[in-house]
Formats: sequence, C-alpha cells, structure tokens
Amino acid sequence: MPESPLPPGSTIGILGGGQLGRMLAMAAARLGLRTHIYSDEANAPAFDVAAISTVGAYEDKEALARFAGAVDVVTCEFENVPAETLEAAARVAPVFPRAKSFAVAQDRLAEKDFMRGLGIAVAPYAPVDTLDDLRGALARVKFPALLKTRRLGYDGKGQVLIRAEADAAAALEAIGHAPAVLEGMVLFEREVSVIAVRGQDGAFKVYNLIENVHQNGILAISRVPAESPAGIVAEATSIAAKIAEALGHVGVLCVELFQREGERPDLIVNEIAPRVHNSGHWTLDACVISQFENHIRAIAGWPLGDTARHNDAVMTNLIGSDVERWREFAAQPATAVHLYGKAEARPGRKMGHATRLYPKT
Ligand code: AMP
Repeated sequence: MPESPLPPGSTIGILGGGQLGRMLAMAAARLGLRTHIYSDEANAPAFDVAAISTVGAYEDKEALARFAGAVDVVTCEFENVPAETLEAAARVAPVFPRAKSFAVAQDRLAEKDFMRGLGIAVAPYAPVDTLDDLRGALARVKFPALLKTRRLGYDGKGQVLIRAEADAAAALEAIGHAPAVLEGMVLFEREVSVIAVRGQDGAFKVYNLIENVHQNGILAISRVPAESPAGIVAEATSIAAKIAEALGHVGVLCVELFQREGERPDLIVNEIAPRVHNSGHWTLDACVISQFENHIRAIAGWPLGDTARHNDAVMTNLIGSDVERWREFAAQPATAVHLYGKAEARPGRKMGHATRLYPKT
C-alpha cells in the first residue's frame, strides 16, 4: 500500500479498456497522472486516451507482471477479472480494490451470503446446481422466480424467468447447467443505486441516490435525485457504508437496490459492482468531482473529492443505433454528450451517453 499519495506524474495501471477505463483515464489525466491500459482487445476504447497501452490476455502472467512492473498502482474497470489475473498483478504492484471485493461481486451466491451475513436484505434465494436443487428451491422461492448464473451474468444475461414448475428443466438447459442461484421476484416501486467511494484510510463518501430505468435488462436512464423519501436515502447510504467497510473496499463501489412499496418503503440489495458504474456517469457533469476522479483519488491515496451535486441530472444511455442521434443530443440545451469512440454500433452495445442538467432542486 502506498505510504503517501502517488504524486502527479505517477502511472495508474487499468485492467480493461472499455468506456469505463476510458473515462477513468481522462479523469486521471486531469490530475496529472498517466494511465497504462491493459486489455485483451486490440482496439479498446480506452487506448485512445491513455499514455501507454498493452494488448494481452488476462491469463498471460508474464505480460501482466511486466504491466504491473511499469505502473505505480493497478485497478480494474470490470468486475469479472479472473482472480489469478489480480494475483499476478498484486505480486508486483499494489492492486485496488483488493481481491475480496471482486470475489464477492463475481459470484451471486457469495454476494447474497455476504449481504445476509451483514443483516442486509436480499431477495429470497437458493443455490442451484442440479434439477433436483432447482425443484427444491422452487418449492421455497415463490413463482415467478429468476434463475441466474452465479458467475459472468450482467445486463440481464445469464438469467431465465421461471413461471411454473414445468419450466424448470428448460430453464436449467437455457443457462447451460451452469452453477446458479434461484431468486424470488421482488415487486419494487423503483430501482435505485448508490455510488460510494472509500479511501485507503477508510474515508467514505456517497453521491446522491440515483433512480434507474432498465430496458431489456440494460440501464437506459438514470435520474438524480431519486424520488425516494429521506429515510430510504439514509438507509441506502448506511447499506453502502456497511458493505464498503466489510469488504475493506478501496475505490468506487456501486450498490444496486430495489425500493419496495408499502407503508414503510424498504430496500433490497440486487447486486454490487466493485467499480465505477454506468448509473454514476452523470457525476461527470453534475458534481464537483466525478465518480471516475474519486476512484482514481482513492486508489492513488489522494484525499477524496467533494461528491456534492450542483445540478439535477438525467443521463440517457446511447445503446446500439441510438448513437446515430448524437447530433440531436449535441443540439439540446444544458446537455453534455459523451461518445466512447467505438467503431461498430452492435445492438445492446453501450456507445455513449448524454447528460442533461437541470437547476438543483
Ligand atoms: P441483474 O443482472 O441482476 O442486475 O438484473 C437485471 C435487471 O433485471 C434488474 O435491474 C431488474 O430490473 C431485473 N431483476 C433482476 N433481479 C430481479 C428480482 N429478483 N426481482 C425483480 N426484478 C429483477
């Protein structure tokens, strides 16, 4: 662990070269820090804005050791980085967040067990490895239920809705009999997320609670502030603090939550991401210091920056062919357009986002 803040001129190593790595590199540059991106993709979007780029496999331990030897600290822009990759880098350079944050976030079962251990509410769930497990789990978790792979699911991928017992075998087939978790459906009023940042010294800050709208399992729109009662906002902050503390997390952490209706609205944790998150992109334009800069500050041992928002904001993701509307967004008042420099606009691919600012309420 660095004893003192990394001085300007130091180099941040980032595993992963997508749009999150790109925006992290741009934030680092503002602080006079250089970035070295390691990606297995030849044309990674982050390469355009980094001082140094390496194309290599995440399994190539020698290339990883060379990369880690050339930087002052290593971080990741995606949570599914293999544990061995992190270990290979950690033998040579400090790595933040630490392995525990990834181990918990990468496995839906470990994640739910971890939350339960902290007394944090999650949807009813049961582990599923076989058809017998699934039948037993369906008897306990009410219909409809969601079968989710334990690993490598994101944006609604690796998930099957089960409406009746007769769907069980086909559902298991659909996820290729991968180790899974059966989860009860949560009847929520809205989806919200909290973006938090924790420093190496345990300092902790959160951004305002965010309200998210998903389409086809992919984030479409984030609005700030969320229309949630003050009690819910306080509960979300306390959940994020508890998780970050228990993980010994360093860097940005996102907690995705379901807010339930009722006389006493409450929150259920859906999942966590041990990294900067799409629902925090509005912080680039509506906050004093963005989630990207705060992640860099945390891993570099700098004081955390002010998370206060100076405007309300609505962030719209530009997914697939939406990116063709860039001119329209660029012409809108009080709107910041961010394009990720990806050549091919495949369906479902995040190509950019636009944040419209409004006076702070
Ligand atoms: P996930 O990949 O787990 O984030 O799921 C993607 C989206 O599916 C979430 O943002 C929700 O809109 C929906 N979803 C996932 N799990 C549940 C659940 N247990 N109950 C209701 N909706 C869910």
